[in-house]
Amino acid sequence: MAEARFDNFIDGQWIGSTDRIPNVSPSDTSDVLGHYAQADAAQGRAAISAATTAQPSWQASGLEHRYKVLMSIGDELIARSEELGDQLSREEGKPIAEGRGEVYRSGQFFHYFAAEVLRQMGDTADSVRPGIEVETRREPMGVVVVITPWNFPMATAAWKIAPALAFGNSVVFKPANLVPASAVALTEIISRQDLPAGTFNLVMGSGSEVGEALITSPDVDAITFTGSLQTGKHIAMAAAANLTKFQLEMGSKNALVVLDDADLDIAADCAVNGAFFGSGQKCTASSRLIVTAAVHDEFVDKVCQRMSKLKVGHALDADTQIGPVVDAGQLAQNLKYLEIGAAEGAQLVCGGEVDDGKGFYMTPALLLNSTNDMKINRDEVFGPIACVIKVADYEEALTTLNDTEYGLTAGVVTQSLREASHFKRHAKTGCVMVNLPTAGTDYHVPFGGRKSSSYGSREQGQYAVEFYTEIKTTYIRSA
Ligand code: NDP
Repeated sequence: MAEARFDNFIDGQWIGSTDRIPNVSPSDTSDVLGHYAQADAAQGRAAISAATTAQPSWQASGLEHRYKVLMSIGDELIARSEELGDQLSREEGKPIAEGRGEVYRSGQFFHYFAAEVLRQMGDTADSVRPGIEVETRREPMGVVVVITPWNFPMATAAWKIAPALAFGNSVVFKPANLVPASAVALTEIISRQDLPAGTFNLVMGSGSEVGEALITSPDVDAITFTGSLQTGKHIAMAAAANLTKFQLEMGSKNALVVLDDADLDIAADCAVNGAFFGSGQKCTASSRLIVTAAVHDEFVDKVCQRMSKLKVGHALDADTQIGPVVDAGQLAQNLKYLEIGAAEGAQLVCGGEVDDGKGFYMTPALLLNSTNDMKINRDEVFGPIACVIKVADYEEALTTLNDTEYGLTAGVVTQSLREASHFKRHAKTGCVMVNLPTAGTDYHVPFGGRKSSSYGSREQGQYAVEFYTEIKTTYIRSA
């Protein structure tokens, strides 16, 4: 059978390239989804040029038209969420319930921002000078570069592309090279809409080649990025050189705090869900479990009991709860961190076993006797590994929580309104969860972090308008 080949989408055309890479399933490395074109720097520049030409027509197409386009994209994603979710799970490794849920959620992002298209209102004011009126209105940025990571191949793209298009921008989309199939699926849906050619462009390829061409271009108006801290800092430097607006969502080292009065079944459920689901490959994962001494042993018992029942397996098996990790490099990194943790004195009490099967499988791992200064509690591991840190009381728990360079999400499990309220106000993170896992967010409210987790204005919800538009102030002599 001929190999399936997939191309880039530039200026309304599907365009091949001399170089292609295979898209290999992490559940079974003999399963290849297809071979995907690798855009070079020249194709990246061609996409920017097409986006620049198309953007004014898209901006002028009218709110009703843009609303319908976004609704139509959302409708198709939701209608095909099973089929596209299974493909997403096949390429990324998350269980099918999560893959399907992610595609459905992606459709919801398009629906949400379709509604935002119609909610674009400006302000008017009297001038401080008599006989003059002032109005402010938002205008599109222009050409927006969207760069996404591999762990949420469809949702991250959707929560950036939907607002970019809603507010009248054109888009050049560079997905992570590990997960091109979801990017192609989304592009096929967008390509069938009534958009001026060049409004939306897909350039698959490596960050170091086509990504670099995008972030260094003086013709780009805004760059929205989700990925690692290291790449985020590099993009910040490149964007600053051209004074290009940028927004970064990066890694984290989130913690779930369990207090003396916690319902320990809720605490254990939150820990297992937040630390291990999605194989811990979430920027919101709870990789630190900060537990007060009084409930430490019982909490650990409950977590281990739940972990021993988790079904690790092929992403497409209906009863799988934990799929493989994304590739050999990520598996090697996880195992390296288990070695680092052991060398630092942490004790592996559950999981951490590798299956030498056809994919990149490891059982979720729990480490005890860890302290917050250990490397395993400082670095983002991005795997199914959690470390328990025993503390004396709430005050020590809060200090430990905030003692990190990151600040995306934090969770607390307690029945005390006083401590939950104090925690809510003093956790130095962008999101706080009370009696809920640190992972799991809604699509209609802002999402983002503090410190090294995020830079720039918030994503999602009504706050997205800040990044994808700029304000114009107009003065009119009216008398
Ligand atoms: P990377 O930073 O390695 O890659 C992210 C994207 O940036 C990929 O598309 C990558 O391309 C691209 N890229 C790499 N180098 C460059 C460059 N020089 N110029 C332009 N683009 C470049 O992150 P991962 O894909 O490994 O994703 C995991 C990270 O994402 C974790 O740190 C995680 O915490 C974070 N993340 C953060 C979220 C948040 O909202 N805060 C949400 C989800 C994930 P390619 O890989 O194709 O070469």
